[in-house]
Amino acid sequence: MTRAPANLLAVRSLLLTHLNVDPNTVRDADLEPAEVGIVGDPAHRGGYHCGSDRVVPNDYSVVESPRDRNGLTLDAAALDVGGFEVRSGGGTHTLASFSLWCVGQCVANAADTRDIREIIYSPDGTTVKRWDRLGKRTSGDSSHRWHTHFSFFRDAIKAGRDQRPLFRRYLTEIGLIEGDDDMAMTAEDRQGLIQDIAAAVVNQNLGRSGPALGTAVQSTYGQVAKLSAALAGQDLVDVPAIVAAVLAQLTPERIAAAIPSSLAKEVADELARRLVA
Ligand SMILES: [Zn+2]
Repeated sequence: MTRAPANLLAVRSLLLTHLNVDPNTVRDADLEPAEVGIVGDPAHRGGYHCGSDRVVPNDYSVVESPRDRNGLTLDAAALDVGGFEVRSGGGTHTLASFSLWCVGQCVANAADTRDIREIIYSPDGTTVKRWDRLGKRTSGDSSHRWHTHFSFFRDAIKAGRDQRPLFRRYLTEIGLIEGDDDMAMTAEDRQGLIQDIAAAVVNQNLGRSGPALGTAVQSTYGQVAKLSAALAGQDLVDVPAIVAAVLAQLTPERIAAAIPSSLAKEVADELARRLVA
């Protein structure tokens, strides 16, 4: 089953935190959870939204660079961002201006863009363009008039490398966040976080057999461990945001109904051990 990797969930969460201006209302002007996607729908085959179980023979997202060939796992390696319009710092910022800024950073080869393979976007809502680090393609299909697609080299996903710096720089530049707005986690936050991860993992794997559930939980441990390594020295900053992104796809009622409290506690305890280790 193709997975959404923790580092892209973290980017998704960062963007939603700051661009979903009115989280309680679904409206065109801001970014909604359904507009920021990582894993393609189950029928989708081929490309960076797919992990190893859904790529196709000779898939462009695998064969065109050693970085992809050597990085292929079950993780998806793409992020779609939908339309928004946000006023900040005396200006109006949209999907188009965001995309152009990101492409500009890629063209300039900024250090925090080097894991980006390609960006498919529209500068004006009509023309579709593609910036491709490998120089293979220059356009994309018309759906990219309304959403922008980021592909990441699969080795960066496999390594769990933090992809938020570029996007945080954008949010800083347009005045939505200050440069250093990360907060350190309290012990209480950490405990809550661990329980949330446990809940999400269990809920997403309901109906699986014991061994399959075990495998899924192991895989999530691995992702959290990788990410916390990437964040070393930052005391797991923003991991709650990652969990929030996972949980955003589930209703509280479903989670509550789904989790036997004993199991949630067992998973939480194990996660706690590994996170602290
Ligand atoms: Zn896409």
